[in-house]
Amino acid sequence: MAEIEAVDGAGFEAGCDVLVIGAGAAGLIAALKAQEAGATVLVVERDAVARGSTALSAGLVPAAETRFQREAGIADSKAGFAADILAKAHGEPDPEAVALVVDQVGGVLEWLADRHGLPFSVIDNFTYPGHSARRMHGLPSRSGAELMDRLRTAAEAAGIDIVTEATATTLFADGDRIVGAGLLRPDGAEDRIGCKALVLACNGYGGNPDLVAAHIPALKDALYFGHPGNRGDALLWGEALGAATRHLSGHQGHGSVAHPHGILITWATITEGGIQVNRDGVRFANEARGYSESAAAVIAEPDGIAFTIFDGRIAAIARQFEDFRAAETAGAVLTADTIAGLAGRMHVPEAALAATLGEIAALKTAGATDRFGRDFAGVAQLAPPYAAVKVTGALFHTQGGLVVDDRARVMRRDGRPFETLFAAGGAACGVSGADAGGYLSGNGLLTAFAYGALAGLGAARAAGAGAPA
Ligand SMILES: Cc1cc2nc3c(=O)[nH]c(=O)nc-3n(C[C@H](O)[C@H](O)[C@H](O)COP(=O)(O)OP(=O)(O)OC[C@H]3O[C@@H](n4cnc5c(N)ncnc54)[C@H](O)[C@@H]3O)c2cc1C
Repeated sequence: MAEIEAVDGAGFEAGCDVLVIGAGAAGLIAALKAQEAGATVLVVERDAVARGSTALSAGLVPAAETRFQREAGIADSKAGFAADILAKAHGEPDPEAVALVVDQVGGVLEWLADRHGLPFSVIDNFTYPGHSARRMHGLPSRSGAELMDRLRTAAEAAGIDIVTEATATTLFADGDRIVGAGLLRPDGAEDRIGCKALVLACNGYGGNPDLVAAHIPALKDALYFGHPGNRGDALLWGEALGAATRHLSGHQGHGSVAHPHGILITWATITEGGIQVNRDGVRFANEARGYSESAAAVIAEPDGIAFTIFDGRIAAIARQFEDFRAAETAGAVLTADTIAGLAGRMHVPEAALAATLGEIAALKTAGATDRFGRDFAGVAQLAPPYAAVKVTGALFHTQGGLVVDDRARVMRRDGRPFETLFAAGGAACGVSGADAGGYLSGNGLLTAFAYGALAGLGAARAAGAGAPA
C-alpha cells in the first residue's frame, strides 16, 4: 500500500488529464474546477459511495466578506478572519498560506452556489469560539452528508467520472513527474491509470492507528470519529517522494461526542452557556477554549467520559443540526426539570452537580472568570428544563500534511514544487499549527474548499488544459 513505482513515461499512456485520488469535498471540488478549466478528469474513490470525512462533518465552512454574510447583515473582513486563524494557532501557520485560503474560500462557496446550485447560508444565531464574526456557512440541514450528496450530484451532472471501489495503492513517477496511479479493486484486480497531473485528496492519517500513535500520542486510545479509509496514503507517498511535511501532530479533536451513541453534539451547547462535568459532577477544564483541545481533556477524565450540560433554550439552537436531532431521537439527550432530576438521570452525585451548577450561576451573575480561566461575563444563565449528554473525546481528523504552494502544488524538501502533483484538504498541511489547540472551527473544510479549487485549477493547467500556468 502507498507505494511509488518508477515508470518510463514514453510507454505510459495518459488516461485523463487530471486524476483525483479521493472523492471527499477536496477531491470533488478539485474535479469540478479542473473540468471547468477544460481538463478531462477522473476521480478514484476507495468506497462504494463517496462520503469521506466530509459526510461525517457538520459541513460548515468559514468564510469572510461573502454575499451570504452581507444578506444577513453581518460585517466581517478577510483580515479579521486571517487574524483569528493565526491567533488560535499561536502564529504557527504560514501567514501567506492563511491569507491565501481566507481569500479563496468565499469565492468557492459563491461559485458552488451559483454554478452548481448548492444553497449555502450563513449561521447567524451563534458564534463559534475563536471567530470574531458569524462566518460559518452551511447547507439547509447543516450536515456534511448533504454537502457530499450535493457535491456528488454536481460532479455527476457535470459528467465527471467517479470510479468507486478503487483504492489507489501506487503512484507512478517518471523522474520528477507523477504520471499515474495503480488501483486495487475489491476482487483483487489491479488497474493502471495514466494522467498528466494528479491531485491527492485522500485526507490525512486519522484512520491509521500507527501514524496516530506516532504523531498524536495523547489520542492514541481515543475514538477515531473520521472516515476509516483515510489511512495517510498522501502522507506516505509524499514522504517516499521527498515531499516537505509540516505540523504532523496538528489535528481536530472534539470533546463532545455522545457516548455510546457516537453522535456529534454541537459545541454551541457550550458557547451558548453550557458546561462539562465528569462522572463525579465536577468541572475539569475551561470548556470555552474550544472543542478540539477538549478531546484530550475529556479522555483524561475517569472512564474517558464527561457530560455536556445545557438547557432547553440551548437545545432549541442545537436542534438546527441534524446530528443533534438524531441524538435526541436516539435518547442521548437526558432532560429534567430540576437539578436533582438531572443528576438522577446522569447517575452522578446530586450534591456535587448542584454545587457545580450553583457556582456557574454565581459566576455568570458576577460576570466573573473561573479558576480554569473561562470568562462568564455576558453568558446566559441555564434554566429549566435542564439537559445533559454523556460524551467522550474523539479524534476527528489530522491537520498536518504535505506542504503546498499557492497553486496547491506539493513542495519538495528542497523547496521546489512537484510540477504535476497537487494536494488539498486533509492531505495538505492545514492552517492549525502543531497541536489540537490551534484548530479553529472550520479549518478542515476551509482548506478542502480553498486548496481543492486551487488544486483543480492548477492541475488542469499543469496538464495543458485552459490558460497557460
Ligand atoms: C465528525 C466530524 C465533524 C467535522 N465537522 C467539520 C465542520 O463542521 N467544519 C469543518 O471545516 N470541518 C469539519 N470536519 C473536518 C472535515 O470533515 C475534513 O477536514 C474534510 O472533510 C476533509 O475533506 P477531504 O476531502 O480532505 O477528505 P474526505 O472527505 O475524508 O475525503 C477523502 C476521501 O479519500 C478516500 N480515500 C482515502 N484514501 C484513498 C485511496 N488510497 N484511494 C482512493 N480513495 C481514497 C476516502 O475514502 C475519502 O472518501 C469534521 C470532521 C469530522 C470527522
